[in-house]
Amino acid sequence: MPRIPKRIRLLLLVAILLIGGFLSTSIASYVVSRDALREGLISSALPLTGDNIYSEIQKDMLRPVFISSQMAHDTFVRDWLLAGEQDPTQLSRFLREVKIKNGTFSSFLVSAKTMRYYHSDGILKTVAEDDSRDAWYFRVAKMPQEFETNVDPDLANRDKMTIFINYKIFDYEGQFIGVTGVGITLDTMRHLLQNYEARFQRRIYFVNQAGQVMLTGDDQQARTSILQQEGIGEVAHKILNHQTEPMAVTYSLNEQLVLLNTRFIPELGWYLIVEQNETADLRPVQTMFQFNLLISALVTLLVLFIATYSINRSQSYLETLAKTDGLTRLLNRHAFEAVLTQKRSELTRRQRSVSGILIDIDFFKQVNDQFGHTAGDEVLRQVANLLRKTARSSDTVARWGGEEFVILLDDCSKAMALELAERLRKVVAHFDFSLPDSYQVTISLGVVELLQGETEVEFFQRADQLLYAAKSSGRNCVMADL
Ligand code: GH3
Ligand code: MG
Ligand code: MG
Repeated sequence: MPRIPKRIRLLLLVAILLIGGFLSTSIASYVVSRDALREGLISSALPLTGDNIYSEIQKDMLRPVFISSQMAHDTFVRDWLLAGEQDPTQLSRFLREVKIKNGTFSSFLVSAKTMRYYHSDGILKTVAEDDSRDAWYFRVAKMPQEFETNVDPDLANRDKMTIFINYKIFDYEGQFIGVTGVGITLDTMRHLLQNYEARFQRRIYFVNQAGQVMLTGDDQQARTSILQQEGIGEVAHKILNHQTEPMAVTYSLNEQLVLLNTRFIPELGWYLIVEQNETADLRPVQTMFQFNLLISALVTLLVLFIATYSINRSQSYLETLAKTDGLTRLLNRHAFEAVLTQKRSELTRRQRSVSGILIDIDFFKQVNDQFGHTAGDEVLRQVANLLRKTARSSDTVARWGGEEFVILLDDCSKAMALELAERLRKVVAHFDFSLPDSYQVTISLGVVELLQGETEVEFFQRADQLLYAAKSSGRNCVMADL
Protein backbone atom coordinates (compact mmCIF):
# COMPACT_ATOMS: atom_id res chain seq x y z
CA MET A 1 0.00 0.00 0.00
CA PRO A 2 1.40 3.43 -0.86
CA ARG A 3 2.15 5.62 2.14
CA ILE A 4 -0.43 8.35 2.61
CA PRO A 5 1.24 11.76 3.06
CA LYS A 6 1.02 13.21 6.57
CA ARG A 7 -0.96 16.21 5.37
CA ILE A 8 -3.61 14.04 3.70
CA ARG A 9 -3.72 11.81 6.78
CA LEU A 10 -4.41 14.81 8.98
CA LEU A 11 -7.18 16.04 6.66
CA LEU A 12 -8.66 12.54 6.50
CA LEU A 13 -8.66 12.35 10.28
CA VAL A 14 -10.40 15.74 10.54
CA ALA A 15 -12.95 14.67 7.91
CA ILE A 16 -13.63 11.35 9.67
CA LEU A 17 -14.01 13.08 13.04
CA LEU A 18 -16.38 15.72 11.64
CA ILE A 19 -18.45 13.32 9.56
CA GLY A 20 -18.57 10.82 12.43
CA GLY A 21 -19.58 13.50 14.93
CA PHE A 22 -22.19 15.09 12.70
CA LEU A 23 -23.63 11.77 11.58
CA SER A 24 -23.95 10.41 15.09
CA THR A 25 -25.63 13.54 16.46
CA SER A 26 -27.95 13.79 13.43
CA ILE A 27 -28.92 10.14 13.66
CA ALA A 28 -29.36 10.34 17.42
CA SER A 29 -31.63 13.38 17.17
CA TYR A 30 -33.58 11.76 14.32
CA VAL A 31 -34.11 8.60 16.36
CA VAL A 32 -35.13 10.57 19.45
CA SER A 33 -37.60 12.72 17.47
CA ARG A 34 -39.00 9.70 15.63
CA ASP A 35 -39.46 7.76 18.87
CA ALA A 36 -41.05 10.76 20.59
CA LEU A 37 -43.42 11.16 17.65
CA ARG A 38 -44.29 7.47 17.65
CA GLU A 39 -44.74 7.49 21.41
CA GLY A 40 -46.96 10.59 21.17
CA LEU A 41 -49.11 8.98 18.49
CA ILE A 42 -49.42 5.68 20.33
CA SER A 43 -49.92 6.98 23.81
CA SER A 44 -51.93 10.13 23.27
CA ALA A 45 -53.01 11.19 19.78
CA LEU A 46 -54.59 7.95 18.60
CA PRO A 47 -56.29 7.07 21.93
CA LEU A 48 -57.63 10.63 22.09
CA THR A 49 -59.26 10.25 18.66
CA GLY A 50 -60.67 6.94 19.89
CA ASP A 51 -62.00 8.59 23.05
CA ASN A 52 -63.68 11.37 21.10
CA ILE A 53 -65.31 9.02 18.64
CA TYR A 54 -66.37 6.71 21.39
CA SER A 55 -68.07 9.43 23.35
CA GLU A 56 -69.87 10.63 20.20
CA ILE A 57 -70.98 7.08 19.51
CA GLN A 58 -72.16 6.63 23.05
CA LYS A 59 -74.17 9.79 22.68
CA ASP A 60 -75.68 8.53 19.40
CA MET A 61 -76.08 4.87 20.32
CA LEU A 62 -77.17 4.88 23.90
CA ARG A 63 -80.52 6.40 23.11
CA PRO A 64 -81.58 3.81 20.47
CA VAL A 65 -80.44 0.98 22.75
CA PHE A 66 -82.41 2.48 25.58
CA ILE A 67 -85.50 2.91 23.34
CA SER A 68 -85.23 -0.68 22.09
CA SER A 69 -84.96 -1.92 25.64
CA GLN A 70 -88.09 0.01 26.59
CA MET A 71 -89.92 -1.42 23.56
CA ALA A 72 -88.93 -4.98 24.51
CA HIS A 73 -90.10 -4.47 28.07
CA ASP A 74 -93.29 -2.60 27.22
CA THR A 75 -96.30 -4.39 28.77
CA PHE A 76 -98.59 -3.38 25.88
CA VAL A 77 -96.23 -5.04 23.37
CA ARG A 78 -95.96 -8.22 25.39
CA ASP A 79 -99.71 -8.38 26.16
CA TRP A 80 -100.55 -7.79 22.50
CA LEU A 81 -98.23 -10.62 21.41
CA LEU A 82 -99.51 -12.98 24.10
CA ALA A 83 -103.12 -12.12 23.21
CA GLY A 84 -102.57 -13.50 19.71
CA GLU A 85 -101.61 -10.39 17.68
CA GLN A 86 -105.27 -9.46 17.19
CA ASP A 87 -105.22 -5.98 15.68
CA PRO A 88 -102.01 -5.18 13.72
CA THR A 89 -102.97 -1.49 13.49
CA GLN A 90 -102.58 -1.23 17.28
CA LEU A 91 -98.95 -2.38 17.10
CA SER A 92 -98.29 -0.30 14.00
CA ARG A 93 -99.55 2.74 15.84
CA PHE A 94 -97.22 1.92 18.71
CA LEU A 95 -94.26 1.47 16.32
CA ARG A 96 -95.13 4.68 14.51
CA GLU A 97 -95.30 6.57 17.82
CA VAL A 98 -91.80 5.33 18.72
CA LYS A 99 -90.50 6.31 15.30
CA ILE A 100 -92.01 9.78 15.27
CA LYS A 101 -91.11 10.53 18.86
CA ASN A 102 -87.50 9.64 18.29
CA GLY A 103 -86.94 11.22 14.89
CA THR A 104 -85.30 9.32 12.06
CA PHE A 105 -85.43 5.81 13.43
CA SER A 106 -87.22 2.95 11.81
CA SER A 107 -88.94 0.62 14.26
CA PHE A 108 -89.93 -3.01 13.95
CA LEU A 109 -91.15 -6.12 15.70
CA VAL A 110 -91.04 -9.79 14.66
CA SER A 111 -93.30 -12.25 16.40
CA ALA A 112 -91.79 -15.62 17.32
CA LYS A 113 -95.19 -17.25 17.02
CA THR A 114 -96.45 -15.98 13.66
CA MET A 115 -93.06 -14.94 12.19
CA ARG A 116 -94.69 -11.71 11.05
CA TYR A 117 -92.49 -8.67 10.53
CA TYR A 118 -94.37 -5.57 11.71
CA HIS A 119 -93.28 -2.02 11.10
CA SER A 120 -94.87 1.40 11.44
CA ASP A 121 -97.07 0.93 8.38
CA GLY A 122 -98.31 -2.55 9.11
CA ILE A 123 -97.13 -6.08 8.29
CA LEU A 124 -94.12 -6.01 5.98
CA LYS A 125 -93.64 -9.73 5.47
CA THR A 126 -93.35 -13.09 7.18
CA VAL A 127 -89.79 -14.06 7.98
CA ALA A 128 -88.65 -17.39 6.64
CA GLU A 129 -85.65 -19.47 7.70
CA ASP A 130 -84.63 -20.13 4.08
CA ASP A 131 -84.58 -16.43 3.16
CA SER A 132 -81.03 -15.13 3.60
CA ARG A 133 -82.36 -11.64 4.25
CA ASP A 134 -84.16 -12.95 7.35
CA ALA A 135 -81.12 -14.78 8.72
CA TRP A 136 -80.63 -12.02 11.26
CA TYR A 137 -83.85 -12.94 13.04
CA PHE A 138 -82.94 -16.59 13.49
CA ARG A 139 -79.48 -15.60 14.70
CA VAL A 140 -80.99 -13.23 17.28
CA ALA A 141 -83.54 -15.83 18.40
CA LYS A 142 -80.71 -18.24 19.20
CA MET A 143 -78.17 -15.84 20.68
CA PRO A 144 -77.58 -15.99 24.44
CA GLN A 145 -77.42 -12.24 25.11
CA GLU A 146 -80.49 -10.01 25.37
CA PHE A 147 -79.67 -7.69 22.48
CA GLU A 148 -77.26 -7.13 19.62
CA THR A 149 -76.29 -4.38 17.27
CA ASN A 150 -76.09 -5.31 13.64
CA VAL A 151 -75.69 -3.62 10.30
CA ASP A 152 -78.07 -4.74 7.57
CA PRO A 153 -79.95 -3.23 4.67
CA ASP A 154 -83.29 -1.94 5.96
CA LEU A 155 -86.10 -3.72 4.10
CA ALA A 156 -88.54 -1.02 5.18
CA ASN A 157 -86.27 1.83 4.09
CA ARG A 158 -85.09 1.22 0.49
CA ASP A 159 -82.47 -1.25 1.69
CA LYS A 160 -80.41 1.54 3.18
CA MET A 161 -77.52 0.28 5.33
CA THR A 162 -78.81 0.59 8.86
CA ILE A 163 -77.67 -0.16 12.37
CA PHE A 164 -80.33 -2.29 13.98
CA ILE A 165 -80.64 -2.75 17.68
CA ASN A 166 -82.29 -6.15 17.95
CA TYR A 167 -83.81 -6.67 21.38
CA LYS A 168 -85.35 -9.98 22.43
CA ILE A 169 -88.86 -9.89 23.95
CA PHE A 170 -89.73 -12.34 26.71
CA ASP A 171 -93.12 -13.06 28.25
CA TYR A 172 -93.72 -12.80 32.00
CA GLU A 173 -92.38 -16.35 32.47
CA GLY A 174 -89.20 -15.56 30.56
CA GLN A 175 -90.19 -17.35 27.34
CA PHE A 176 -88.86 -15.84 24.09
CA ILE A 177 -91.77 -14.38 22.14
CA GLY A 178 -90.20 -12.08 19.55
CA VAL A 179 -87.68 -9.45 18.60
CA THR A 180 -88.16 -5.72 18.54
CA GLY A 181 -86.02 -2.67 18.16
CA VAL A 182 -85.10 0.34 16.09
CA GLY A 183 -82.84 1.02 13.19
CA ILE A 184 -80.74 4.10 12.59
CA THR A 185 -79.05 4.82 9.30
CA LEU A 186 -75.31 4.61 9.18
CA ASP A 187 -75.01 7.99 7.52
CA THR A 188 -74.59 9.89 10.78
CA MET A 189 -71.90 7.51 11.95
CA ARG A 190 -70.15 7.47 8.60
CA HIS A 191 -70.22 11.24 8.61
CA LEU A 192 -68.60 11.22 12.00
CA LEU A 193 -65.83 8.91 10.76
CA GLN A 194 -65.29 10.96 7.60
CA ASN A 195 -65.05 14.08 9.66
CA TYR A 196 -62.43 12.60 11.98
CA GLU A 197 -60.52 11.00 9.13
CA ALA A 198 -60.26 14.29 7.28
CA ARG A 199 -59.36 16.23 10.38
CA PHE A 200 -56.62 13.94 11.65
CA GLN A 201 -55.44 12.17 8.48
CA ARG A 202 -56.19 8.81 10.06
CA ARG A 203 -58.12 5.74 9.03
CA ILE A 204 -61.03 5.13 11.32
CA TYR A 205 -63.29 2.11 11.00
CA PHE A 206 -65.24 -0.54 12.86
CA VAL A 207 -64.86 -4.30 12.79
CA ASN A 208 -67.21 -6.80 14.37
CA GLN A 209 -66.13 -9.53 16.74
CA ALA A 210 -65.41 -11.88 13.84
CA GLY A 211 -62.99 -9.32 12.40
CA GLN A 212 -65.28 -8.21 9.59
CA VAL A 213 -65.01 -4.54 8.62
CA MET A 214 -68.47 -3.14 9.33
CA LEU A 215 -68.21 0.57 8.76
CA THR A 216 -65.61 2.87 7.26
CA GLY A 217 -65.62 6.56 6.48
CA ASP A 218 -65.50 5.98 2.74
CA ASP A 219 -67.38 2.65 2.64
CA GLN A 220 -64.28 1.02 1.12
CA GLN A 221 -63.18 -2.40 2.28
CA ALA A 222 -66.44 -2.86 4.13
CA ARG A 223 -67.36 -6.50 4.71
CA THR A 224 -63.80 -7.80 4.29
CA SER A 225 -62.18 -9.36 7.31
CA ILE A 226 -59.10 -7.85 8.91
CA LEU A 227 -57.95 -11.43 9.51
CA GLN A 228 -57.43 -11.76 5.77
CA GLN A 229 -55.89 -8.36 5.15
CA GLU A 230 -52.21 -7.94 4.51
CA GLY A 231 -50.30 -6.43 7.44
CA ILE A 232 -53.09 -6.06 9.95
CA GLY A 233 -53.93 -9.76 9.51
CA GLU A 234 -50.92 -10.62 11.61
CA VAL A 235 -52.09 -8.62 14.61
CA ALA A 236 -55.85 -9.11 14.10
CA HIS A 237 -56.09 -11.74 16.85
CA LYS A 238 -54.67 -9.19 19.33
CA ILE A 239 -57.31 -6.65 18.31
CA LEU A 240 -60.22 -9.09 18.57
CA ASN A 241 -59.75 -10.00 22.21
CA HIS A 242 -62.64 -8.16 23.84
CA GLN A 243 -60.67 -5.51 25.62
CA THR A 244 -62.77 -2.57 26.66
CA GLU A 245 -59.61 -0.68 27.55
CA PRO A 246 -57.99 1.02 24.56
CA MET A 247 -55.01 -0.91 23.28
CA ALA A 248 -52.07 0.07 21.08
CA VAL A 249 -50.93 -2.27 18.32
CA THR A 250 -48.42 -1.73 15.51
CA TYR A 251 -47.96 -3.57 12.26
CA SER A 252 -46.02 -2.97 9.10
CA LEU A 253 -47.48 -2.67 5.64
CA ASN A 254 -45.36 -2.12 2.52
CA GLU A 255 -42.35 -1.56 4.77
CA GLN A 256 -44.10 1.28 6.57
CA LEU A 257 -45.10 1.23 10.18
CA VAL A 258 -48.78 1.61 10.96
CA LEU A 259 -49.70 2.64 14.49
CA LEU A 260 -53.10 1.53 15.63
CA ASN A 261 -55.37 2.06 18.60
CA THR A 262 -58.35 -0.17 19.20
CA ARG A 263 -61.12 -0.51 21.74
CA PHE A 264 -64.25 -2.56 22.09
CA ILE A 265 -67.50 -0.57 21.96
CA PRO A 266 -70.02 -2.62 23.92
CA GLU A 267 -72.99 -0.56 22.67
CA LEU A 268 -72.20 -1.68 19.11
CA GLY A 269 -70.48 -4.96 19.87
CA TRP A 270 -67.80 -3.71 17.49
CA TYR A 271 -64.17 -2.72 17.74
CA LEU A 272 -63.30 0.84 16.89
CA ILE A 273 -59.96 1.02 15.10
CA VAL A 274 -58.02 4.24 14.65
CA GLU A 275 -54.84 3.82 12.65
CA GLN A 276 -52.18 6.04 11.23
CA ASN A 277 -49.27 5.42 8.94
CA GLU A 278 -46.41 7.22 10.66
CA THR A 279 -44.68 8.05 7.36
CA ALA A 280 -46.58 11.29 6.79
CA ASP A 281 -45.95 12.46 10.35
CA LEU A 282 -42.29 11.53 10.06
CA ARG A 283 -41.77 13.63 6.96
CA PRO A 284 -40.84 16.86 8.81
CA VAL A 285 -38.46 14.88 11.03
CA GLN A 286 -36.92 13.30 7.94
CA THR A 287 -36.65 16.66 6.23
CA MET A 288 -34.93 17.99 9.33
CA PHE A 289 -32.58 15.01 9.26
CA GLN A 290 -31.71 15.64 5.61
CA PHE A 291 -31.23 19.33 6.32
CA ASN A 292 -28.91 18.45 9.23
CA LEU A 293 -26.89 16.18 6.95
CA LEU A 294 -26.65 18.90 4.33
CA ILE A 295 -25.45 21.48 6.86
CA SER A 296 -23.01 18.92 8.28
CA ALA A 297 -21.65 18.20 4.81
CA LEU A 298 -21.26 21.92 4.11
CA VAL A 299 -19.54 22.56 7.45
CA THR A 300 -17.27 19.55 6.87
CA LEU A 301 -16.33 20.83 3.43
CA LEU A 302 -15.75 24.33 4.77
CA VAL A 303 -13.57 23.08 7.64
CA LEU A 304 -11.61 20.86 5.23
CA PHE A 305 -11.17 23.80 2.88
CA ILE A 306 -9.95 26.07 5.68
CA ALA A 307 -7.69 23.32 7.05
CA THR A 308 -6.21 22.62 3.60
CA TYR A 309 -5.69 26.32 3.01
CA SER A 310 -3.93 26.95 6.35
CA ILE A 311 -1.85 23.78 6.09
CA ASN A 312 -0.75 24.78 2.58
CA ARG A 313 0.01 28.29 3.73
CA SER A 314 2.02 27.27 6.76
CA GLN A 315 3.79 24.63 4.71
CA SER A 316 4.80 27.07 2.02
CA TYR A 317 5.85 29.51 4.75
CA LEU A 318 8.03 26.81 6.32
CA GLU A 319 9.42 25.90 2.92
CA THR A 320 10.32 29.53 2.22
CA LEU A 321 11.82 29.79 5.68
CA ALA A 322 13.93 26.71 5.07
CA LYS A 323 15.22 28.12 1.78
CA THR A 324 15.92 31.66 2.97
CA ASP A 325 18.90 33.18 4.71
CA GLY A 326 17.66 34.98 7.78
CA LEU A 327 19.99 37.96 7.64
CA THR A 328 19.93 38.92 3.96
CA ARG A 329 16.60 37.32 2.87
CA LEU A 330 18.47 35.79 -0.08
CA LEU A 331 18.33 32.09 -0.89
CA ASN A 332 20.59 30.06 1.36
CA ARG A 333 23.30 27.71 0.17
CA HIS A 334 21.12 24.63 0.42
CA ALA A 335 18.39 26.12 -1.75
CA PHE A 336 20.92 27.45 -4.19
CA GLU A 337 22.43 23.99 -4.65
CA ALA A 338 19.02 22.63 -5.52
CA VAL A 339 18.61 25.33 -8.19
CA LEU A 340 22.05 24.59 -9.55
CA THR A 341 21.31 20.84 -9.78
CA GLN A 342 18.16 21.62 -11.74
CA LYS A 343 19.97 24.02 -14.09
CA ARG A 344 22.67 21.45 -14.67
CA SER A 345 20.14 18.84 -15.76
CA GLU A 346 18.45 21.40 -18.02
CA LEU A 347 21.79 22.26 -19.52
CA THR A 348 22.24 18.72 -20.88
CA ARG A 349 18.80 18.84 -22.48
CA ARG A 350 18.82 22.35 -23.90
CA GLN A 351 21.69 24.04 -25.63
CA ARG A 352 22.24 27.21 -23.66
CA SER A 353 24.88 28.62 -21.36
CA VAL A 354 24.66 28.95 -17.62
CA SER A 355 27.21 31.11 -15.81
CA GLY A 356 28.05 31.75 -12.20
CA ILE A 357 29.57 34.63 -10.22
CA LEU A 358 31.18 34.02 -6.82
CA ILE A 359 31.47 37.18 -4.71
CA ASP A 360 33.44 37.90 -1.55
CA ILE A 361 33.49 41.14 0.43
CA ASP A 362 36.99 42.58 0.76
CA PHE A 363 38.51 42.88 4.24
CA PHE A 364 35.26 42.15 5.90
CA LYS A 365 36.95 41.05 9.07
CA GLN A 366 38.20 44.59 9.28
CA VAL A 367 34.68 46.00 8.96
CA ASN A 368 33.61 43.86 11.90
CA ASP A 369 36.65 44.75 13.91
CA GLN A 370 36.44 48.48 13.27
CA PHE A 371 32.72 49.17 13.31
CA GLY A 372 31.31 46.25 15.21
CA HIS A 373 29.41 43.13 14.30
CA THR A 374 26.07 44.92 13.91
CA ALA A 375 27.54 47.31 11.35
CA GLY A 376 29.04 44.25 9.63
CA ASP A 377 25.58 42.66 9.47
CA GLU A 378 24.15 45.85 7.99
CA VAL A 379 26.88 45.84 5.32
CA LEU A 380 25.98 42.21 4.48
CA ARG A 381 22.33 43.20 4.10
CA GLN A 382 23.12 46.19 1.92
CA VAL A 383 25.50 44.24 -0.33
CA ALA A 384 22.80 41.55 -0.68
CA ASN A 385 20.26 44.24 -1.71
CA LEU A 386 22.65 45.72 -4.26
CA LEU A 387 23.28 42.27 -5.78
CA ARG A 388 19.57 41.50 -5.95
CA LYS A 389 18.68 44.86 -7.50
CA THR A 390 21.46 44.79 -10.05
CA ALA A 391 21.03 41.18 -11.20
CA ARG A 392 18.28 40.22 -13.66
CA SER A 393 15.08 38.82 -12.23
CA SER A 394 15.85 35.49 -13.91
CA ASP A 395 19.17 35.24 -12.01
CA THR A 396 19.41 33.30 -8.78
CA VAL A 397 21.17 35.28 -6.04
CA ALA A 398 22.18 33.43 -2.84
CA ARG A 399 24.28 33.84 0.24
CA TRP A 400 26.99 31.23 -0.07
CA GLY A 401 28.09 31.60 3.54
CA GLY A 402 29.81 34.22 5.75
CA GLU A 403 30.47 37.26 3.57
CA GLU A 404 30.36 35.30 0.32
CA PHE A 405 27.59 35.41 -2.26
CA VAL A 406 26.85 33.52 -5.46
CA ILE A 407 24.76 34.36 -8.53
CA LEU A 408 23.62 31.81 -11.07
CA LEU A 409 22.87 33.34 -14.46
CA ASP A 410 20.55 31.33 -16.63
CA ASP A 411 20.86 31.60 -20.42
CA CYS A 412 23.86 33.86 -20.06
CA SER A 413 27.21 33.62 -21.80
CA LYS A 414 30.50 34.22 -19.99
CA ALA A 415 30.86 37.62 -21.71
CA MET A 416 27.47 38.76 -20.45
CA ALA A 417 28.28 37.39 -17.01
CA LEU A 418 31.53 39.30 -17.00
CA GLU A 419 29.64 42.45 -17.88
CA LEU A 420 27.23 41.96 -15.00
CA ALA A 421 30.08 41.16 -12.61
CA GLU A 422 31.82 44.40 -13.50
CA ARG A 423 28.58 46.30 -13.03
CA LEU A 424 28.12 44.71 -9.60
CA ARG A 425 31.64 45.57 -8.59
CA LYS A 426 31.08 49.23 -9.56
CA VAL A 427 27.70 49.49 -7.88
CA VAL A 428 29.17 48.28 -4.58
CA ALA A 429 32.31 50.35 -4.90
CA HIS A 430 30.20 53.47 -5.39
CA PHE A 431 27.55 52.74 -2.84
CA ASP A 432 27.42 54.87 0.26
CA PHE A 433 27.40 52.41 3.19
CA SER A 434 27.40 55.36 5.66
CA LEU A 435 30.33 53.91 7.55
CA PRO A 436 32.58 56.13 9.71
CA ASP A 437 35.64 57.72 8.13
CA SER A 438 33.95 57.33 4.70
CA TYR A 439 35.06 53.72 4.71
CA GLN A 440 34.22 52.15 1.31
CA VAL A 441 33.21 48.54 1.07
CA THR A 442 34.31 46.68 -2.07
CA ILE A 443 33.87 43.17 -3.45
CA SER A 444 35.99 40.74 -5.45
CA LEU A 445 34.34 38.49 -8.05
CA GLY A 446 35.11 35.25 -9.94
CA VAL A 447 33.13 34.49 -13.12
CA VAL A 448 32.77 30.97 -14.61
CA GLU A 449 30.62 29.36 -17.24
CA LEU A 450 29.19 25.95 -16.36
CA LEU A 451 30.79 23.33 -18.57
CA GLN A 452 28.99 20.34 -20.03
CA GLY A 453 29.40 17.35 -17.70
CA GLU A 454 31.01 19.40 -14.94
CA THR A 455 30.07 18.61 -11.33
CA GLU A 456 28.97 21.26 -8.88
CA VAL A 457 32.13 20.78 -6.85
CA GLU A 458 34.32 21.28 -9.92
CA PHE A 459 32.29 24.34 -10.91
CA PHE A 460 32.73 25.96 -7.52
CA GLN A 461 36.35 25.03 -7.29
CA ARG A 462 36.99 26.91 -10.51
CA ALA A 463 34.97 29.88 -9.28
CA ASP A 464 36.84 29.87 -5.99
CA GLN A 465 40.19 29.83 -7.71
CA LEU A 466 39.18 32.85 -9.80
CA LEU A 467 37.98 34.64 -6.71
CA TYR A 468 41.26 33.88 -5.02
CA ALA A 469 43.04 35.29 -8.07
CA ALA A 470 40.96 38.48 -7.81
CA LYS A 471 41.94 38.80 -4.15
CA SER A 472 45.59 38.30 -5.06
CA SER A 473 45.48 40.93 -7.74
CA GLY A 474 44.49 43.62 -5.30
CA ARG A 475 40.73 43.01 -4.63
CA ASN A 476 37.82 45.15 -5.91
CA CYS A 477 38.14 43.42 -9.28
CA VAL A 478 36.61 40.70 -11.48
CA MET A 479 38.42 37.56 -12.65
CA ALA A 480 37.09 35.21 -15.35
CA ASP A 481 38.19 32.09 -17.19
CA LEU A 482 40.20 32.55 -20.29
P1 GH3 B 1 39.32 39.05 2.38
O1 GH3 B 1 39.39 40.34 1.70
O2 GH3 B 1 40.54 38.23 2.16
O3 GH3 B 1 38.06 38.30 2.05
O4 GH3 B 1 39.34 39.40 3.91
P2 GH3 B 1 38.20 39.09 4.91
O5 GH3 B 1 38.47 39.76 6.14
O6 GH3 B 1 36.91 39.40 4.28
O7 GH3 B 1 38.37 37.55 5.01
P3 GH3 B 1 37.82 36.42 6.01
O8 GH3 B 1 37.16 35.40 5.18
O9 GH3 B 1 39.03 35.99 6.77
O10 GH3 B 1 36.85 37.09 6.96
C1 GH3 B 1 35.44 36.92 6.89
C2 GH3 B 1 34.86 37.46 8.10
O11 GH3 B 1 33.47 37.59 7.95
C3 GH3 B 1 35.09 36.58 9.29
C4 GH3 B 1 33.80 36.59 10.03
O12 GH3 B 1 33.88 37.06 11.32
C5 GH3 B 1 32.95 37.52 9.23
N1 GH3 B 1 31.60 37.06 9.14
C6 GH3 B 1 31.15 35.90 8.62
N2 GH3 B 1 29.78 35.85 8.72
C7 GH3 B 1 29.36 36.99 9.30
C8 GH3 B 1 28.11 37.54 9.67
O13 GH3 B 1 27.05 36.92 9.47
N3 GH3 B 1 28.09 38.77 10.21
C9 GH3 B 1 29.18 39.49 10.43
N4 GH3 B 1 29.08 40.69 10.99
N5 GH3 B 1 30.39 38.99 10.14
C10 GH3 B 1 30.50 37.79 9.57
MG1 MG C 1 35.60 35.16 2.75
MG1 MG D 1 36.24 38.54 2.46
